Amino acid sequence: MKSIQEIVTQTEFSDEDIIRLLSVTDKNEVEILRQAAFDRATEHLGNQVYYRGLIEFSNICTLDCRYCGIRKSNHDVPRYELEKDHIVSAAVWAAENGYGSICLQAGERRDPKFVDFVIDVLETIHEKTVSETLPNGLGITLSLGEQTLEVYEAWAKAAGNPVGLRYLLRFETSNPDLFDHLHCAPGKHEKGLERRYAALANLRKAGYQVGSGVMIGLPGQTLEDLCKDIRTFQKLDLDMIGMGPYITSAGADMLGEGMMEKKALMRLSLNMIAVTRLVIPDVNMAAATALHALEEDGREQGIRHGCNVVMPNITPRIVRKNYQLYANKPFIEQEPSDSNHYLQNCIEKSGRTVGLNVLGSSVHWLKRVKKI
Ligand code: SF4
Repeated sequence: MKSIQEIVTQTEFSDEDIIRLLSVTDKNEVEILRQAAFDRATEHLGNQVYYRGLIEFSNICTLDCRYCGIRKSNHDVPRYELEKDHIVSAAVWAAENGYGSICLQAGERRDPKFVDFVIDVLETIHEKTVSETLPNGLGITLSLGEQTLEVYEAWAKAAGNPVGLRYLLRFETSNPDLFDHLHCAPGKHEKGLERRYAALANLRKAGYQVGSGVMIGLPGQTLEDLCKDIRTFQKLDLDMIGMGPYITSAGADMLGEGMMEKKALMRLSLNMIAVTRLVIPDVNMAAATALHALEEDGREQGIRHGCNVVMPNITPRIVRKNYQLYANKPFIEQEPSDSNHYLQNCIEKSGRTVGLNVLGSSVHWLKRVKKI
């Protein structure tokens, strides 16, 4: 049998190798995996970690994903929708504080009023953030769910920055039965895995850097499922990957099914990040805030295991507590500037530097569109 040291030096991995790496718990083997993932990230992407200022501008959602704390049927959460001026001010703050990019996230809505609102917000953010430092304006990542190709195209145009245009749409799990279990409340069939893949293909067509990801440690999920998730990342030819531990949420329909014990969940999540980095070295990969919900230095550990993006929450504090997709979400009370210092410290402690005033686009995407 190959040793962990032998496996991590490979550039091609069998399913058996992947599952072996995902399952390591021995302290020495864990360190070999972590170091290899960190080195591979640095070798392919350089030493910088990029900020994406996260603005959660509305928790109104028309859907009912069973794992989610802000699903439509949870009537205990007060709903909010930020005004355009508040969103634009947060974006301008990000640009002025060295963030090259922001991420706009909200519950899923497809009505024309919402689509037009997003267009208006994007046009204004672009207009207000073009500067000498950011000649194309802020990089924009959208995380607004499944939409039609026409809507993706309209938003892409409004964002005004084709070299910093990104979309995050997780497929959550490549196991179709588990996907249905997560998304289909009794009597409903709101989402389908094939439809999700079709939406990702449309994002590619509309010119976005395409990001997706999964939840780690779902009830009933196996290591084979996680291995298949990594194969799906490869098949989809993703530019960005965002994944995090599955944490139960008050108000979610799946609360009663429980979650993995925290230490084991953290280990599995970090293993998944590290293995993904070894298999796909040139994608941008975010250290999820959910890692921090499990352990104080969770995001720092994510960076140490191969992540190169963090998403500081710059949503106005007054509404932040109402965007809890999972329990114990951190940084609910912090001001964006406090979070900045904290993150910079985390990044520097992990041996990397913050990439300020740059778009920090995915090397995978840059190669794909032949910009490098
Ligand atoms: S995961 Fe997204 S689409 Fe699903 S209920 Fe939550 S906010 Fe809505």
